[in-house]
Amino acid sequence: MTSFSSPDADRRLRAAIAASLDAFILLEAVRDASGAVTDLRMAELNHRAERLLGRPREALLGRLVTEVLPQVRETGLLARAIRVLDTGESLDEELRVSGPGIEAEWLRHQIVKLDDGLAVTSRDITEGKRVEASLRASEERYRLLVESATDGIYRIDPRGIFTYANPIASRVLGMGDGTIVGRSYLDFVRPDYRQEAIELYTRQIRQRVPVTYWEFPALRTDGREVWVGQNVQLDHRDGEVVGLAAVARDITARRAMEEALRQSEERYRFVTEHSRDMLARLTRDGRFEYVSPVCESLLGVGPADLQGRRFDELCDADDVAGLRAVHERLAARGGVETTTLRMHGRAGTPVWFETTHQAIVDDAGGAVTGFLTVSRDITERRKLEEDLRHVQKMEAVGQLAGGVAHDFNNLLTAIRGFSDVLFQSIRADDPRRADVLEICKATDRAATLTRQLLAFSRRQVMRPEPLNLNTVVADLARILQRLLGEGVTVATRLADGLPIVRADPGQMEQVLLNLALNARDAMAERGGTLTIETAVETLQASPEARHAPGRYAVLRVIDTGTGMTPEVRARLFEPFFTTKPRGRGTGLGLSMVYGIVTQSGGFITVDSAPGRGASFAIHLPAAHGAAEPARPAPRSRVVARGSGTILVAEDSEGVLVLAQRILRDAGYEVLTARDGVEALDVARHHAGEIDLLLTDVMMPRMNGGELARAFAAERPDAVIAIMSGYMDEDALRRTLDDPETPILQKPFSAASLLERVSALLVRAPAA
Ligand code: ADP
Ligand code: MG
Repeated sequence: MTSFSSPDADRRLRAAIAASLDAFILLEAVRDASGAVTDLRMAELNHRAERLLGRPREALLGRLVTEVLPQVRETGLLARAIRVLDTGESLDEELRVSGPGIEAEWLRHQIVKLDDGLAVTSRDITEGKRVEASLRASEERYRLLVESATDGIYRIDPRGIFTYANPIASRVLGMGDGTIVGRSYLDFVRPDYRQEAIELYTRQIRQRVPVTYWEFPALRTDGREVWVGQNVQLDHRDGEVVGLAAVARDITARRAMEEALRQSEERYRFVTEHSRDMLARLTRDGRFEYVSPVCESLLGVGPADLQGRRFDELCDADDVAGLRAVHERLAARGGVETTTLRMHGRAGTPVWFETTHQAIVDDAGGAVTGFLTVSRDITERRKLEEDLRHVQKMEAVGQLAGGVAHDFNNLLTAIRGFSDVLFQSIRADDPRRADVLEICKATDRAATLTRQLLAFSRRQVMRPEPLNLNTVVADLARILQRLLGEGVTVATRLADGLPIVRADPGQMEQVLLNLALNARDAMAERGGTLTIETAVETLQASPEARHAPGRYAVLRVIDTGTGMTPEVRARLFEPFFTTKPRGRGTGLGLSMVYGIVTQSGGFITVDSAPGRGASFAIHLPAAHGAAEPARPAPRSRVVARGSGTILVAEDSEGVLVLAQRILRDAGYEVLTARDGVEALDVARHHAGEIDLLLTDVMMPRMNGGELARAFAAERPDAVIAIMSGYMDEDALRRTLDDPETPILQKPFSAASLLERVSALLVRAPAA
């Protein structure tokens, strides 16, 4: 028996205990040999405790707690109670109990340390617990109903039979209220979904999964199909699963919308992923959120690498400010803007893009949340445009140069001719003869310059013939080595089976010579190698091709010299463009080369970079019909007397007077006219023979071609010759009826004029 501190206190305590409405038990510690508490023994208890434990006081006093209530050990309460003994901290906890004669299901214990024992107050809370539980259950049901006021609600038992359905559930499934109860849930599930339904809900019940969500196509009694999405909870009563409770909703419209969305998204993605345009979504601060995979082939950077990087990081430094301004404007005002910009991918060479930027506007607030960009690769287009601009510029410069050169050429013809005449008239010992000779030489140099200009403007007389470029190269290579000096090694590589082209061999030599001289200048300081090679190339037809498809003979002139900057490369064919010191370069070499090549139907390209030498490639189209018959000797006429009569038609006063002077001095009778109409008039009024018509091509009122035709009709026996300082000979011939009409190139010297004329008018041997 426990002894308490004082008899008085003891008595008062016992009275309080006896009167307590709660069960009251005093426990004393049971210790083993080492002094550790192993159990608790009942030392005192009140009437209420007797009731609670279902046994009389005598049957309980002195008994071990663990004997009376085994749960005390099982639930760990014993250990916790012993801790109260050790620490003095009281304990308050609920315990579910059971045992023979014990009525209560739930007890609530308060355990307090009292000397070497424990005072335990226990209250039966079974009833309260029950109320609480049923309250919770009905609350649950209530909540279910309230929350799902617009949803269908139904219960099914574990066999899948409806035990309840609210009106909405019945409506969704096409049944009147009430009639649904007793039917099988599976009847309303489309057959191909039934297996899934069985598996899902069997598992939910077996594994006691509190809530599941499932969407399925439901078959209404009217045969219509609706999509149902349902939350299914375990329906349990008193801890037992009695079935499933579902909150279901018709989601047909939502599904249809989602499907449409998915399809359009798929279509959108298809377009996006397969478009050659690069599509990107950027954040408001210009970072890639999405970029279509084509960036890989356009920039050499994959979408994953671009993610999060700034759009302008890829742009050329020159374009960044403009781009930012566009994005700022769009961020402020929304809308769409298009820009042209360069981007640098992995390859390093910039890709030109035409990019449309569109502000993405937030649905709700109208704020700009980012940008949508569509970038189209326009590199090829720009190159074409640039080429076109270049060609147009060359064309314009050519026309200008050609126009000046044309007039200048006529002046030179007169100067040259008259200085010839003057020269002839001065005695050999006259000191002025040397002066005149200087005039002649200067005129010759001036004539060379004009010829180059005319060549550039493609107005030079050209004598194209079937030509093997290998022959030209082989012939010239022999003298090139000497021309280029010791420092430069000349190498040739000639292709077999090179197609025959139509070109003027003299002009092609000039082309090669000019390229070789430029190469020499570029290698002047350190020497190097000049390689001339020929090749066969077939160009394919393609929408981007700038040249006719077909076979080409290619002539390449490659040097290992200084090379050139892109700026020089862009301008080098322009007449008078030179980087060489005054007196060293005229800037006409390449313009002439350009003119000759284009006039021959070919094209020239350059590949060069500073320090990396230069490589010029000339493509000439293969000629149709490999060889052309040799031209018959020009028609000539036997002049009866010691001389002949010549009609000269020329609108340039100087040339006309010169020709008249030279021919008259040589003993010819000369008639003159300033255009075609006048020439015909003169001829009609001339009673005697006219042996030769010498006519200019471009004249006012009637040109040389028309004159030749009319004149030939009236005087079929006469010889006709053309004087020309420009124009493609082929084009000239097209204006003439007789393709074999002899052509005399301006400017001419007195000697060359007489030589040609005397070849045409053969004097009859003296009788
Ligand atoms: P010029 O030789 O009189 O200067 P061209 O028309 O022949 O005139 O050439 C124009 C310019 O092109 C040259 O001044 C030079 O700057 C450049 N050029 C031409 N060929 C080469 C080359 N093989 N290597 C480097 N630069 C070249
Ligand atoms: Mg040159």
